[in-house]
Amino acid sequence: MSKYQVNEKGYYGKFGGAYIPEMLYPNVEELRQEYLKIMNDPDFQAEFDQLMRDYVGRPSPLYLAERLSERYGANVYLKREDLNHTGAHKINNTIGQILLAQRLGKKRIIAETGAGQHGVATATVCALKGLECVVYMGAIDIKRQAPNVARMKMMGATVVAAESGSKTLKDATNEALRDWINNPVDTHYIIGSVVGPHPYPDMVARFQSIISSEAKQQLLDKKGKLPDYVMACVGGGSNAIGMFYHFLEDESVQLIAAEAAGKGIRSGHSAATSVLGKEGVLHGSRTILMQTPDGQVIEPYSISAGLDYPGIGPQHAFLHENKRVKYVSITDDEAMQAGLLLTRLEGIIPAIESAHALAQLEKMKFEKDDDIILCLSGRGDKDLDNYMNYFSF
Ligand SMILES: *Cc1c(COP(=O)(O)O)cnc(C)c1O
Repeated sequence: MSKYQVNEKGYYGKFGGAYIPEMLYPNVEELRQEYLKIMNDPDFQAEFDQLMRDYVGRPSPLYLAERLSERYGANVYLKREDLNHTGAHKINNTIGQILLAQRLGKKRIIAETGAGQHGVATATVCALKGLECVVYMGAIDIKRQAPNVARMKMMGATVVAAESGSKTLKDATNEALRDWINNPVDTHYIIGSVVGPHPYPDMVARFQSIISSEAKQQLLDKKGKLPDYVMACVGGGSNAIGMFYHFLEDESVQLIAAEAAGKGIRSGHSAATSVLGKEGVLHGSRTILMQTPDGQVIEPYSISAGLDYPGIGPQHAFLHENKRVKYVSITDDEAMQAGLLLTRLEGIIPAIESAHALAQLEKMKFEKDDDIILCLSGRGDKDLDNYMNYFSF
C-alpha cells in the first residue's frame, strides 16, 4: 500500500480517523467493513463503469488549450470535468455512493449541502435509482442558492432548512448527522468531499480517482510521457485528490493545489486553510482547519461557494505536511480574472472554483516543453450572476 494512502486504522500519518459520537458508531462501522468488499465486486464495477460512460459521459476529454498554452509558453491540458452530466466532478462520487447504498440495502439517502452543488448531484442519483432523498441546507444558503434548490425539488428531493447557528453548511451538516443517528438502519449519508470520518475520505477519493486514471492514460496516449505539473483547486479536496491520485507515486510530477484566499490571506475573509489552519477535529476527522485560539471553527469566506470550507480533508493535511503537494492561495480577484481569461481565450466559462487553479498558472515559470494537466472541476453556468456582477457586464 502506498505511503500516501490511508492505513488499516483509517489514518494518513496523524490525520484522519473517525471522531464521532458513540451513537453513530454502528453506521460508520458498517460502512467501514463493507466499502472495499463492495467496491471490488465485479458487478459493482461493471455498473459503475457503465453509468460513468453512458450517464455521466466519461471519459471526460483531456483538452490541449492552445491559446492558453501560448500565453504560458507550455502545454496546458484541461481535464474537462465541466462536461460531465450536472456540470462538475461531484457526480462521480454520488454515483459511486448510491450504488454502494443500494448494495447495503438502504432505502433512503441524506446529504448536506452548502451552495447546493452536492445536493443537486445527490438528488440526481436518487432520481436515477428511485431512492428517497433528503437534503439538509442552511436557511441562509437556501435563500442564496434558489436555482439549485429548485433543481433538487424538481428531482423529487426534500430540502430541509437548517435554522440553527449561522444557518449555513456547518449547521446543515449537524442536522444531517442527527438524522443519521435517528435512522441508522435504512439510511445512507452521502458526503460530498474527501472529508468526514474514515472511511469517507478514502471512499470518496477512490470514486474520484477516475479523473487521474483517465488523464494519466490520455496524456500517455498523446505524448508518451507523464505530465510535469498536475493542478487542481481545493475546497474539501475531492477533485484535487481525484486529479492527484494516480500521480502520487510519480515523484517527478509536481502536484499543486489552489485554495481560496478570498479577500486576502490576512483579511479575515478567506478559506486558506493550509496557511491559516491548525490541527484539530472537523466533521469527524483529525485534519487542519481554521480555528480561533480556543478552538472555535472560523467561518470561511470565498467568492466561490464550493471553496468556502474551513478545513481540508485529512489526506490533504497529510500531503501538505509531507510536502508531496504544494498548496497555494488565490484571491477572489485573481480567480475572477483567470475565469474571464479562459472564457476569452478558449470559449470555456469555468466554475469560479476551477478558476482558482487557472489563476496559479499566472504565477509560475515554465519550460517550453512542460506538460501541465489542470482539473477543470466544473462549468461556470452556475456562476454567471457572480461573474456579471463582478465585471459589471
Ligand atoms: C464543490 C466543488 C469544488 C470543491 O470541492 P472539492 O471537494 O474540493 O473538489 C470545486 N469545483 C467545483 C466545480 C465544485 O462544484
